[in-house]
Amino acid sequence: MAVLGIDIGGTTTTIGFVTETGEILAESTMPTQGKDHITYYLPRLYEQINTLKSNLTSEINLKGIGVGAPNANFFKGTIENPPNLAWGGVIPLADILEKEFKVPVKITNDANAAAIGEMLFGAAKGMKNFILITLGTGLGSGIVIDGKLVYGHTGFAGELGHLTVKPGGRLCGCGKRGCLETYVSVTGIRRTVSKLLADTMEESHLRDVSQTNLTGEMITEAALRGDRVALQAFEYTGEVLGQKLADAIAFSSPEAIIFFAGLCFITNTCHRTNAQTQCATIKLARHGILLICTFWP
Ligand SMILES: [Zn+2]
Repeated sequence: MAVLGIDIGGTTTTIGFVTETGEILAESTMPTQGKDHITYYLPRLYEQINTLKSNLTSEINLKGIGVGAPNANFFKGTIENPPNLAWGGVIPLADILEKEFKVPVKITNDANAAAIGEMLFGAAKGMKNFILITLGTGLGSGIVIDGKLVYGHTGFAGELGHLTVKPGGRLCGCGKRGCLETYVSVTGIRRTVSKLLADTMEESHLRDVSQTNLTGEMITEAALRGDRVALQAFEYTGEVLGQKLADAIAFSSPEAIIFFAGLCFITNTCHRTNAQTQCATIKLARHGILLICTFWP
């Protein structure tokens, strides 16, 4: 018995056949090419799945498909206007895949899917209350309370990335201003670096890079070399993140906060670069909340 997992990211789609004990039988990736309509994406996805299935060493009994995707609605089985995918509005992806593969399909927000995965097989195994945060282009989150994912009335609960940090602040892809992910994400820290470079005369190697070419890795490397602008950007990012995590902790009382993927580079860099950096996320570790970093390959 096996299930098929599909992780749809803005850049890459990852698929894998997985057993009920979490063993990955086979996996592969393909570019999402989210700027094209979904009618171009689906045939490529089907071919990817069928090729991977035909390469399995033994026949499997496919029981179902689980999909993690941005702006996915668990209740309706739809993907709804994700900012990074120009797929054409509301896509009933669960129905589409059920018709194609004739097995049950469940779909949820990608951070929620990550939280379920960590709860069943990963860092949150045995935990009933935790927050998982994914950080890449944006900031995603999945909140588990009393062993259940929080979905809320519409299916879109637990979106910490859209908590307001500064009323009237930076414009967010969701249409609001001042959301957490406009400050704490790879995009957010790039915006912070650009603002620091514009507002100060501080010397920085990052001045030699155009804003469009600036990457999270460049900022990390600069911070590790002691670049003051990069260090200030990390310090500010950590403070903002810490403030909002403190709010989330007050609300849901987690036993752990699990950082998935890119956020590790922020917390690790805060830790490694400067003992005086008041990285608020590290401070949380001293108050009995377990902080766990996992790596998203
Ligand atoms: Zn927002």
